[in-house]
Amino acid sequence: GDELWLAHLTPGPEASSVFVVFEDRTAVHRAERARADFLANASHELRTPLTALAGFIETMRGPARDDRESWDGFLEIMHKQTDRMRHLVSDLLSLSRIEFSEHRAPDTVIDLGDVLSQTVLALQPLAAERAIELSLEGLGREIRVTAKWDELAQVVQNLISNAMKYSPKGGRVTVYIGTARSMADAAKLATGTNEDAIRSVLLQPRASSEAAAAWISVTDKGVGIARQHLSRLGERFYRVDESRGGDIEGTGLGLAIVKHIMARHRGGLAVASEEGEGACFGVWLPCLEGSAATNR
Ligand code: ADP
Repeated sequence: GDELWLAHLTPGPEASSVFVVFEDRTAVHRAERARADFLANASHELRTPLTALAGFIETMRGPARDDRESWDGFLEIMHKQTDRMRHLVSDLLSLSRIEFSEHRAPDTVIDLGDVLSQTVLALQPLAAERAIELSLEGLGREIRVTAKWDELAQVVQNLISNAMKYSPKGGRVTVYIGTARSMADAAKLATGTNEDAIRSVLLQPRASSEAAAAWISVTDKGVGIARQHLSRLGERFYRVDESRGGDIEGTGLGLAIVKHIMARHRGGLAVASEEGEGACFGVWLPCLEGSAATNR
């Protein structure tokens, strides 16, 4: 509305001229609102494990003081809660660090295949723990991208750990990497081949749709995501269903981090899923010419 526009009147260098600067108050309000919501959510998320911890300490000092038998169980829960807080704080820190530097474009040229193969290798022990078969396909020649190594590694790690988290024991998670002649083509390739899946673009790339592109997709055969949730993934703290997976731990920040990192790399993020049929998360970003000589 009109009242949300603020005009600043500044006298120009000539006495007869005036600069009028309009500022979109709606956008400013929205940003302030988002910040306030974020703080409220973060505090709430931190308070939950803290309250649990305080409760158990009280119990162990009070009613259960002499019941040492029950202490093991309490300590186990307290251990889980501190772990949860640790994850939360580390995710919050990543998010704020990335947002802070979002306007600065990365400037080192790295091999995306390297990032991927090293990250997948590092996650193999976790996969083995859950009896998940984690494999990497499409790796061949060098794919050069202008990027921050650690950040892209975090993107891959977050997507793979989600895929494993929402898969049954013994499931299969497949990571694909490839190049495409254009960002537009990469967007399609990155969300997999399941024609029945519903697709949602969570981040539109800033790079030109004609630019040569590299893409990565992470596919699982797990619980999948119902259609009505798809477009909201990537919002901070958005979780599909707290009760769905029983004790699946999560902060609801993993995809928000992925989204911010991809934004900084002028790339995109999309998801394709069908409830009960698994999910496929894809990211794509511009790559240097020459990297995209052959198409997958
Ligand atoms: P969380 O820490 O809760 O996993 P994320 O931001 O990484 O947070 O993911 C947000 C939500 O998206 C998750 O809570 C989950 O409901 C859903 N989700 C993410 N990845 C998958 C997947 N591979 N399969 C099914 N659901 C997923």
